[in-house]
Amino acid sequence: MTTFTALIVGGGIGGLALAHGLRRAGIPADVYERTHERTDWLQGYRIHISPAGARALHHCLPAPNWQAFLEAAAPGGSFGFLTDHATDLLALDEAEINTPGAAEPDRHYGIGRIPLRAALLDGLDDSLHLGKTFTHYTLDGDRVTAHFDDGTSATADLLIGADGANSRVRAQLLPHAHRAETGVITVAGRNPEPAALPEVLRTRANIVIPRGPGSLFTAPEAGQIIWGFSDAVRHLPSDVTKMDGPALQHLVATRIAGWSPAFRTLIADSDPATVNAFHVKSANPVAPWPTTRVTLLGDAIHNMTPMAGIGANTALRDAALLSRLLAEDAGLAAVQRYESEMLEYGFEAVRRSLRNARQSATSTHLSRAFFRTTLRATAALPPLRHAMARSLGR
Ligand SMILES: Cc1cc2nc3c(=O)[nH]c(=O)nc-3n(C[C@H](O)[C@H](O)[C@H](O)COP(=O)(O)OP(=O)(O)OC[C@H]3O[C@@H](n4cnc5c(N)ncnc54)[C@H](O)[C@@H]3O)c2cc1C
Repeated sequence: MTTFTALIVGGGIGGLALAHGLRRAGIPADVYERTHERTDWLQGYRIHISPAGARALHHCLPAPNWQAFLEAAAPGGSFGFLTDHATDLLALDEAEINTPGAAEPDRHYGIGRIPLRAALLDGLDDSLHLGKTFTHYTLDGDRVTAHFDDGTSATADLLIGADGANSRVRAQLLPHAHRAETGVITVAGRNPEPAALPEVLRTRANIVIPRGPGSLFTAPEAGQIIWGFSDAVRHLPSDVTKMDGPALQHLVATRIAGWSPAFRTLIADSDPATVNAFHVKSANPVAPWPTTRVTLLGDAIHNMTPMAGIGANTALRDAALLSRLLAEDAGLAAVQRYESEMLEYGFEAVRRSLRNARQSATSTHLSRAFFRTTLRATAALPPLRHAMARSLGR
């Protein structure tokens, strides 16, 4: 009997977790990643891993990698919604977010992308191929071949495109599937010396919901504070994505002129080199397609806005689901079941994160007043608080 084999394009969060998951299922899987070094993955943002993501990681990873993840991760931390005067609308502390006594895979974690990648990479040396930029694939009977820009190729029974939001695998498999602008722009940056800022900004993640338009996300990260001010495209200059750091800092300062001085200091004292503006994008819904020897995982299919903090958790869920189904029956029937389930929960997550993105840029005072009242009511009612804590990163 010949062994069913897989090749994974993209060694990001989802692709590396899948490689482990498939290996544990007895399916040889090689990963082809375009970056050259194990440390090339330099986006420093901290990732929130929810219980759904942690359970998926626990399923995919061998014990030493899971242990490395636990050692590098911190507890999920606390989270709050603030008014523009820096007072609490709703705050959830660590004990509410992480039920005391919950098993390790059922907890929330925070982890930097670089330590997460290190925990994922360990043990994959023999099957990880760096510096391989995928260009296209060819199907030949019951085999699929991936071609790379250095002229090399690799063949397997199944190709999984885990090559992120601008996936070339998706572009070939589903040329009609696109990411669209959401009408929201985020200006993001990093404050390197937050000592002068209030404790609430230094110790927990926050979303600031002002009475008027726009919103601000803040989160402590490795002794710094990262932030993102989001607003509707129509409220911002048409050349905002081309503006430099100081111009963007000035722009955000004018947008939050009436807010607490703490937020104005956060923006003004940020490192201008870290400040940039980008269109928030989201995948358009995709209908099921006839299953072939090529499938997709993570951002490559259900790319979503960062406003719900669930993109990586959903990619991990894909990795665990596909590994589990292929372990039961390594063939195209399993791939079809994977695609059908993944499209359901993946695009439900896309819709949720899109709602959050639109909420962040809403401009009517009425909808804002309603949202703020809902948050205050949730804060006051324990069952609603618990439901909110449980839903984080779901
Ligand atoms: C600011 C920000 C904060 C976020 N915070 C969170 C959070 O707290 N929690 C959460 O769950 N999600 C979060 N996300 C979303 C999360 O980062 C993504 O959903 C996640 O990284 C997707 O994983 P992936 O494996 O699908 O893709 P990626 O992690 O993007 O990996 C894709 C890989 O494919 C490689 N690749 C691309 N093209 C090719 C090619 N042609 N050939 C070979 N290799 C290729 C890339 O180099 C990369 O390594 C956040 C996103 C942003 C922008």
